[in-house]
Amino acid sequence: MEKRLRIAIQKSGRLSEKSLEIIRSCGIDFSTDSRVLREVASNFPIEFLFVRDDDIPTYVYDNVADIGIVGRNELDESGFDLEVVRDLGFASCRLSIAVPQGFEYESLKSLEGKRIATSYPRILSTILEKNGVKASLVTVAGSVEITPAVGIADCICDLVSTGTTLKMNGLKEVDQIYFTSAVMVSRRDFSSDAQRYGILERLLVRMDTVNNARKKKYILFNLPCDRLDDAAEIIGGMKSPTVTPLLDKDWLSVQSVVSEDRFWSVFEDLKALGAEGILVMPIEKMSD
Ligand code: ATP
Ligand code: ZN
Repeated sequence: MEKRLRIAIQKSGRLSEKSLEIIRSCGIDFSTDSRVLREVASNFPIEFLFVRDDDIPTYVYDNVADIGIVGRNELDESGFDLEVVRDLGFASCRLSIAVPQGFEYESLKSLEGKRIATSYPRILSTILEKNGVKASLVTVAGSVEITPAVGIADCICDLVSTGTTLKMNGLKEVDQIYFTSAVMVSRRDFSSDAQRYGILERLLVRMDTVNNARKKKYILFNLPCDRLDDAAEIIGGMKSPTVTPLLDKDWLSVQSVVSEDRFWSVFEDLKALGAEGILVMPIEKMSD
């Protein structure tokens, strides 16, 4: 039987939709109507395991899944030595120290002797140790933000993206100590499973191709012939824009690819140079 790459994905939560979208953007079809524990793609040798995000590092480490998509925070908290094959950049947030009114916070040293509630005792204790701070950690699985109000902690260390939840609970974010986003992980020795590793490589090529394309725009415009050198300079970094003659001999049609972050400045400079009929198109796939 053909082997399949087994990927662990969060069943339901902040990582779920985006994780599936990444796989789907690689042209891989599957139905997720039922969100059963296991799901097999119809046109690519991959199968999904829908689980709690906390379990993903364990499943990958124990060979239940080959790869997984999980927050770097869960990976570091698990303590498993896994390979980060791609940083996916979404679900980015931070672990922060947050304190109630009246708590004087200057630096991590202010936490000396305090009770800190967190769901990330391993990450927090590593950071405290590095800074020579001794505190007592109260490990809670959820609702960390209510612990000071109910009297079981003096302050908290929790994941923050906007800070609204903290504010609603009368807490102030005073120190951002750790940054995280979603990553794709595998076992360190996974390449020894040649067949499954080969499938991962195919998946990564597809992911990178889609990702490259997202960062670029295809641009097409008409230009007076004598401005071509200036236009090439504005577009920059290209081997050669494609240049096609037009019926009107004084004009050319120019096509090129421009990176998203430079797009507006290129657009404005080309317009100032006399470019007309500028067409901009998204690129669906792009290989280097
Ligand atoms: P599960 O039921 O799978 O255990 P969960 O409640 O532990 O779900 P989510 O709240 O869905 O997990 O968060 C999953 C991951 O999303 C976090 O580990 C973190 O990497 C990321 N994340 C992004 N923003 C936030 C945020 N504001 N609060 C918490 N996690 C966030
Ligand atoms: Zn979880």
